[in-house]
Amino acid sequence: MTTSLPSPYSGLIIGAAPPDRGRGTIDVFDPSSGKLLSSVPDGTVDDGLAAVDAAAEAFGSWRATGPRKRAEILRRCWELMTERKDEIAGLISSENGKTLADALGEVTYAAEFFRWYSEEAVRAVGQLGTSPNGTNRIMVSYEPIGVAVLITPWNFPAAMATRKIAPALAAGCPVVLKPASETPLTSYLIARICAEAGVPDGVINVVTTSRSGEVVRAMLHDPRVRSLSFTGSTEVGRALLHEAADTVLKSSMELGGNAPFIVLDDAVPDEVVDGLMIAKMRNGGQACTAANRVYVHRSLVGKVSRLLADRFADLTIGPGTDPATECGPLINDRAVDKVASLVDSAVAAGARVLVGGERPGREGAFYTPTVLVDVPPQADIVREEVFGPVASIIAFDSDDEVVRAANATHLGLAAYVYTSDLRRGLRMADRIEAGMVAVNRGLLSDPAAPFGGVKESGLGREGGFEGMLEFMESKYIATSW
Ligand code: NAP
Repeated sequence: MTTSLPSPYSGLIIGAAPPDRGRGTIDVFDPSSGKLLSSVPDGTVDDGLAAVDAAAEAFGSWRATGPRKRAEILRRCWELMTERKDEIAGLISSENGKTLADALGEVTYAAEFFRWYSEEAVRAVGQLGTSPNGTNRIMVSYEPIGVAVLITPWNFPAAMATRKIAPALAAGCPVVLKPASETPLTSYLIARICAEAGVPDGVINVVTTSRSGEVVRAMLHDPRVRSLSFTGSTEVGRALLHEAADTVLKSSMELGGNAPFIVLDDAVPDEVVDGLMIAKMRNGGQACTAANRVYVHRSLVGKVSRLLADRFADLTIGPGTDPATECGPLINDRAVDKVASLVDSAVAAGARVLVGGERPGREGAFYTPTVLVDVPPQADIVREEVFGPVASIIAFDSDDEVVRAANATHLGLAAYVYTSDLRRGLRMADRIEAGMVAVNRGLLSDPAAPFGGVKESGLGREGGFEGMLEFMESKYIATSW
């Protein structure tokens, strides 16, 4: 599979404005080699505000475009992304490092948001009711909220963008997308594909910048911006909520996770390990839904950890763009340092390394797939998001004990439960404080389902019909006849 990098790179996407080459650039590196891949414009505050201008100008005609027409354009976005999936996957793999298999999976998932919301666009129906005293008719309609600022992370450069763009466009809102500086190329490619599919100028604007704080602050304080949709760390999300308070901005936050993966005593070890390979190793562990703490009933710890260690030891490490690779690099050297320090401190606190626990002797941001057992429940690696290929196994004895441990965190995005007894699994799902629980599955993301977290993992939902409501306001009209 070849990688197609936009070259020479042609500039920010702001309305119909011609490419502007007069500013600095942000370099984009291949994490598997550290080599320069490409560079993108380093947008300024003025660029951010120009993008808001373009979006605000496009709003009137986009909201007036019939839902059927908007739906047809979104469906064309899905078709074009699907036709060009190898090209997009190659680009994701190059700038993010994930394996081609993971990148292709991401493109399918990302494109599906366009198909799903093309189907939802025509179903934004209102309500008509009668007030309890019978004197008044209650009419409720849904209106597009206005210009939306979208901020995305580097770990799913395609899917995190389309999960926001598709519902916003379906609702009738124009957007300004600010992608992560590590992986901006995919966003630009997707925006260009959307333009080919018929999305009018100004409806999708893309601004890359190394001054995220400054540029985003200026946009959020522009009164024409009415919605903020952020995916990233809890720390940055919290800071953005403070900013959003100034203009009382409708905010959707998809933040960090610390997913427990719970293996009950009646689970089937081979199925558990198949699920763990996905829940832990998709994207090399760099997913907000990644299994971060693996709680295994004491009776199964030996079997599950041995099977998992064998699978991890067999993984082929290499550049994501090599079709033979099963575990790519992390996003950068800082990420490797963080994972190494979490593993080292867990080992110092008493954890044992079954496999991995080191940096392989090769260039690039690699860390060896690692299985730790006897991990102390208070270790930092259990309390913090690892964001790397490390499975920390902790033994437990009773369902009550593991529920308490799973819930002992300020985060609550995803959780996983494995059991042979579905009723037991569903009862446990009820007790776990998370926005999403997978029972006997290692993958839960689905464009048709509401994705999001409780506690400090976020506000609002993306995907499903709920994802579109994030970009709409209800309007109640009181009348009687
Ligand atoms: P991050 O550091 O919070 O960055 C996310 C985005 O915010 C990037 O575009 C970044 O731009 C931008 N940003 C950083 N500081 C900002 C500021 N002061 N004002 C405005 N924007 C700012 O997160 P990350 O390291 O890219 O992503 C990893 C995190 O995302 C993990 O915690 C993961 O769990 C979370 N995540 C959550 C979900 C979910 O759906 N809940 C999905 C994926 C990832 P620059 O790149 O230019 O700094």
